[in-house]
Amino acid sequence: MVLAAIRYSKPSIATVSLDGGELLELDRERLEALLEQLVAYHGQLHWWPAQSTFEILMGAVLTQNTAWRNVEHAIAQLRATMPLTPHAIVDAPSEQLAAAIRPSGYYNVKAQRLRTLSVAYLEAGGYDGLDRLATNELRDRLLAVKGVGRETADDILLYAFKRPVFVIDAYTRRIFSRLGWCRGDEPYEVLRAAVEEACGAERALFHELHAQLVELGKATCRPRPRCNLCPLASSAAETGRRAVARKASCPFPTQHSS
Ligand code: SF4
Repeated sequence: MVLAAIRYSKPSIATVSLDGGELLELDRERLEALLEQLVAYHGQLHWWPAQSTFEILMGAVLTQNTAWRNVEHAIAQLRATMPLTPHAIVDAPSEQLAAAIRPSGYYNVKAQRLRTLSVAYLEAGGYDGLDRLATNELRDRLLAVKGVGRETADDILLYAFKRPVFVIDAYTRRIFSRLGWCRGDEPYEVLRAAVEEACGAERALFHELHAQLVELGKATCRPRPRCNLCPLASSAAETGRRAVARKASCPFPTQHSS
């Protein structure tokens, strides 16, 4: 399935036609209302939690297939073991690197990925060299690094290089599909393009919205949703304002966690 067309039926609503004839309707107003309600509940989240831009690159690899708290342990151990710089990562013995990031899981594979990404980073001229590239060129450069997939590349683009790209992850798919905004199994680039077309190049919106969706997906809109605790459901009920999590589009609005 590929993105066939995007058209605007009225300002801020993007109707995305897929080649199978399906439609995705993404509405900037809804996305902004979602963000507003999540920020009111969680507060600003100030992502990405890192002490340097290079650390964001390392964190984006370490967070693959694991929870963020495991990444925090891995980063803390890494910092205690060696300077968190590309040269130090490249020069570190494999066993030492793998041992330091053990809490993140798949530590041997990830140690190799950290080293490969660090080599590519240095060869490209470090941050400044990569930052000179246009966004699509930079994405291609990142995707060419073994172990960097689309979500990892877009995390790096958005948070390390401050580019206006929207990251699609499992939390986003789950929440958007429960809200009735997508099916959930669309190809990565279809969903990313649809959100970006609906919102425009809104880096600040993407920056905070992704962080908020991760928080919602971790704490509330889990595989078994805790709708009784969901800020979307409660704020809609309390204020009577336009509901983000509304009627049948959110299929579990009254299910309570066990
Ligand atoms: S109401 Fe339930 S299903 Fe809907 S977004 Fe909230 S937690 Fe998820």
